[in-house]
Amino acid sequence: MMTDTEKMPYIPHTNDELQKVETVFTIENVLNEVMRILIVEDEKGISNFLKEGLEEEGFAVDFAGDGRKGLEMASSNDYDLLIFDWMLPGLSGIELCREFRKLNQTAPVIFLTARDTVQDVVFGLEAGANDYIKKPFEFDELLARIRVQLKTRSGEQTVLKLGDVEMNLDTHRVFRNSKEIELTPKEFSLLEYLIRNKEKVCTRTNIIEHVWDIHFDSDTSIIDVYINFLRKKLNPGGKEKELIHTIRGVGYITRDK
Ligand code: CA
Repeated sequence: MMTDTEKMPYIPHTNDELQKVETVFTIENVLNEVMRILIVEDEKGISNFLKEGLEEEGFAVDFAGDGRKGLEMASSNDYDLLIFDWMLPGLSGIELCREFRKLNQTAPVIFLTARDTVQDVVFGLEAGANDYIKKPFEFDELLARIRVQLKTRSGEQTVLKLGDVEMNLDTHRVFRNSKEIELTPKEFSLLEYLIRNKEKVCTRTNIIEHVWDIHFDSDTSIIDVYINFLRKKLNPGGKEKELIHTIRGVGYITRDK
């Protein structure tokens, strides 16, 4: 039996405790869902420096050296955040951003720019960018801006719902019909990915890249194993409605109807 004290959320008091909580959350985020970032930048020095720095911070980073390649990658992968240089061969950062938004993509975009007149900034934001940073910049400043964008985005929804299932992303607790379901971090992160993409087919490749952060090779059977774990946990008595559906040969889809 759980006592009331055990149900109380843990509230840190001292600076040390706060620091500890922050560290735990950072590590947890990295383990649960690796954020994918695309950098489109033609200056090798800058892109290498960014890739290295961001990977050290636990992000999965892809990179394109020109605007067209950037658009191709941005539209065929599912990134959590994109960094576009302003001056690029192929398509400019502005054109790239506009084309990207035309595809109804909502992931945050940060511009790298040597320009900073008000008009240029307005131009960039009108093309659909969320923020910009002026070159030369400190890595830490860019990192802070990335974190703000990712936080703003995930802050939109701290509770995800699928039918009678509720996932609280802050407390990491999952309920179905108000009954708590205990999930491992991987199961949690898999369910989160599926619910965030509900009504959309999630291929095994999408799932493995987002939830496991490894690129697709041949064996994705681990996903099927985890899907089975999830299905059993979400429907222990076998009487509830099935929420995760198999698309044979492709992957999975979650539906609440
Ligand atoms: Ca450039």
